[in-house]
Amino acid sequence: MTRRYDLHCHSTVSDGMLAPAAVVALACAQGVDVLALTDHDTTDGLAEARAAAAGSGLALIAGAELSVSWLGLTLHVLGLNLDEHEVTLAAGLARQRQARRERAARIGTRLAAHGIEGAFAAAEALAGAGSVGRTHFARHLVATGQARDVNDAFKRYLRRGKPGHVAVEWAALPEAIGWIRAAGGVAVLAHPARYELTATRMRVLLGEFKDCGGAGIEVVSGNQRPDALHHHAGLARQFGLLASCGTDYHGPEQTWLALGRLPPLPADLTPVWQTWE
Ligand code: AMP
Ligand code: MN
Ligand code: MN
Ligand code: MN
Repeated sequence: MTRRYDLHCHSTVSDGMLAPAAVVALACAQGVDVLALTDHDTTDGLAEARAAAAGSGLALIAGAELSVSWLGLTLHVLGLNLDEHEVTLAAGLARQRQARRERAARIGTRLAAHGIEGAFAAAEALAGAGSVGRTHFARHLVATGQARDVNDAFKRYLRRGKPGHVAVEWAALPEAIGWIRAAGGVAVLAHPARYELTATRMRVLLGEFKDCGGAGIEVVSGNQRPDALHHHAGLARQFGLLASCGTDYHGPEQTWLALGRLPPLPADLTPVWQTWE
């Protein structure tokens, strides 16, 4: 029997809707065999997720999704199978979360100047002790009737060029990959289709990614068009990258997406889990 892998998902310690233990319970119910919890710039959910997975038969892989600045764009790099207690990684992630808090305050100021008061406090409250992000602002804008849904909130307020957008200098690509590798993890480029790169820029990115020690690419992602899989598989072959798959599950609000349910990876690719199994 083929095992079910989902190597990209979120919990309430970043912008997911379910607590880490609830994500694990759902994964078990969905028949997932191997789950990586990959919250944005934090590993704070792993202890709870690991405890929930103990004795369940589900293998929990420690992960995180790191925000990276590259040529003026924001990229996401997954660190999989890492040691969350390793100090270089922990210090790097702490710096990223501080940048998130500072950005959140500035987003609040910008939205207030646009006539939307109280968004910073509301987003902070929604994030709780977790890693605060734009999704928390988006949910607040939806809850207060200022956007139809989260996607609409991003489109109208939070994306580049919109009134609540604030640019951040995230970790550089070599730095983020360095932290992941210092913690013994595998660096995987998340949802490659999301960056809307030209073919040439994608080749430049993957060349640099490999040179920095990046090892994998998310060939199958929950939010991509079905044909993207074949394109990403071609890139994996061309650049000699390991293949990963993950839903990028954030919670039941993504009604079109089910935790753990993904098309299979092409059989000729080397799956990223070969590095730890
Ligand atoms: P941040 O890392 O705080 O800048 O937020 C990025 C997160 O926002 C992503 O991981 C998604 O969960 C979410 N996101 C980004 N763009 C959209 C969109 N257009 N619609 C819904 N969610 C989005
Ligand atoms: Mn997210
Ligand atoms: Mn992402
Ligand atoms: Mn994600």
